[in-house]
Amino acid sequence: MEGLIMGCILCGCTTDNIIYDGEIRIGKQGVVDRKVLKCSNCGLERLDKFYGAEKYEEGEYHDHTRNPEFEVQDKEQRHYFNYLPSLRHKTVVDVGTGMGNFLDYAGFVAKNVIGVEPDENLRKHIPYRTYPYIEDVPSNIAEMVVSFNVIEHVEDPVKFAEEIKRVLTPYGGRAYIVTPNLDCLLVGVSEEYRKFWRRAAHNWYFYPRTLADCMRCAGLRVENVIPVHRRGLSNTLLWLRDGKPPDDRRLPQISRGMDNAWRGYLEDNMMSERIMVEVVKD
Ligand SMILES: [Zn+2]
Repeated sequence: MEGLIMGCILCGCTTDNIIYDGEIRIGKQGVVDRKVLKCSNCGLERLDKFYGAEKYEEGEYHDHTRNPEFEVQDKEQRHYFNYLPSLRHKTVVDVGTGMGNFLDYAGFVAKNVIGVEPDENLRKHIPYRTYPYIEDVPSNIAEMVVSFNVIEHVEDPVKFAEEIKRVLTPYGGRAYIVTPNLDCLLVGVSEEYRKFWRRAAHNWYFYPRTLADCMRCAGLRVENVIPVHRRGLSNTLLWLRDGKPPDDRRLPQISRGMDNAWRGYLEDNMMSERIMVEVVKD
């Protein structure tokens, strides 16, 4: 269901600025007309129309007719372990688990792993306990909740964070929530990248500060906002040169060491492609 979103869910402000009005990417090839609205008080950005939950259930978001992007997902999700504490002795819930890649690795260490995935076609292939929605998961069961690149898709990110809080164990359960970063260097400098980056399925766009505010609105304590960047200088330069995703291509002039240094530079300055908020249920 597409509906008009009214007011700001973080600060209650009813004054928006339209910062973009035009085509936004939908699916693999298509485009659709959308406006990007920015709260004039807190800076939270959103689309003027929702991409609804039922589209994930119906498999409209994941295209089951082409090859599953298992390898791509696997690389990305394994990278998140670099930013997480140990999973040992913990019940871990992965919200928006997709094909279950993260749980494949988490399952070796954690006491128990649980997935949340609305797409039934994906869910039936995941060899772990899964629920369609976070609302279906029992309360107070998880020492750790992770959610990678999901909060930007939901209809209400504050309610989503409240549900994560409900699932966490009291007095110390921790969640790690990842989303694209509005302060990402390429978002700031490349018009072509911005066009690629904004998607009709992403209802919400966060700065590190607005992501933290969202968690506080849900009653979670924010311990940290962690910059997460995976790709190197080669990727940035190819984007600037070609104006399209370089995929796995590399510039031969750029060494792996330089890629690592660039990754460190972007993370040190919060200009990473993603941000991870670490929150605690007290
Ligand atoms: Zn606001």
